Amino acid sequence: MRRALIAGNWKMHRTAAQARGLAEELKGLVASASADVVVCPTFTSLQAVGEALEGSSISLGAQNMHWEQEGAFTGEVSAAMILTIGCTYVILGHSERRQYFAETDADVNRKLAAALDAGLKPIVCVGETLEQRDSGQMESVVLGQVKAALDGIPAEAIPGIALAYEPIWAIGTGRTATPAQAEEVHLLIRQFLRSNCGDQAADAVRIQYGGSVKPDNALELFSQANIDGGLIGGASLKAESFAAIVTAAG
Ligand code: PEP
Repeated sequence: MRRALIAGNWKMHRTAAQARGLAEELKGLVASASADVVVCPTFTSLQAVGEALEGSSISLGAQNMHWEQEGAFTGEVSAAMILTIGCTYVILGHSERRQYFAETDADVNRKLAAALDAGLKPIVCVGETLEQRDSGQMESVVLGQVKAALDGIPAEAIPGIALAYEPIWAIGTGRTATPAQAEEVHLLIRQFLRSNCGDQAADAVRIQYGGSVKPDNALELFSQANIDGGLIGGASLKAESFAAIVTAAG
């Protein structure tokens, strides 16, 4: 039985003071959640949000990190930096990082190895564009991203990773994959893991769905056998809607 994981990706929204306020609001609303709940504010808000979450069951996550431990990498942040500020999770390979910042599968793989080495719990994002889906490439793109991300990662480490299936055409568009469309891809990913990494990894890994998840579609999505929670963008910026999504996860 996998415990659902609900993560809020606050993207480049909210100043530190605003993020602190959102975290304070959320704390009370999800106090009795049975899912694992994570919020991922910007780097500049991690300290404030971490302080606000003290004593709560909500975990802190970062939206990105570099794979090197330190060095001349202007504008970058290492695993140790986010870990020591209080993060337990880190989002890797989000489609916006891939699309706007030219992040490659090889970068995601290096980041994943570094995050695991540091003891972080990575959330690795994969997903196809609408053109790729329409031209019949969904399976090869998504499984190709999973394979590349996990290259060289030992099977024993896989249960500590969450994968987030986020069809790019559903992110921030209001257009959600139907529960059946999402479940089809989640099952493909789990079958891929079963064939390549073994039953233990396949059964334990959590596969989140992301892409316009809202309070009114969350329950049906999360009821699918292979959907283990969600990575939530827009709807995580309002405490009530994020809390309603957390409640839908059981
Ligand atoms: C995301 O960016 O990870 C995401 C799923 O965004 P939204 O929920 O706004 O579609």
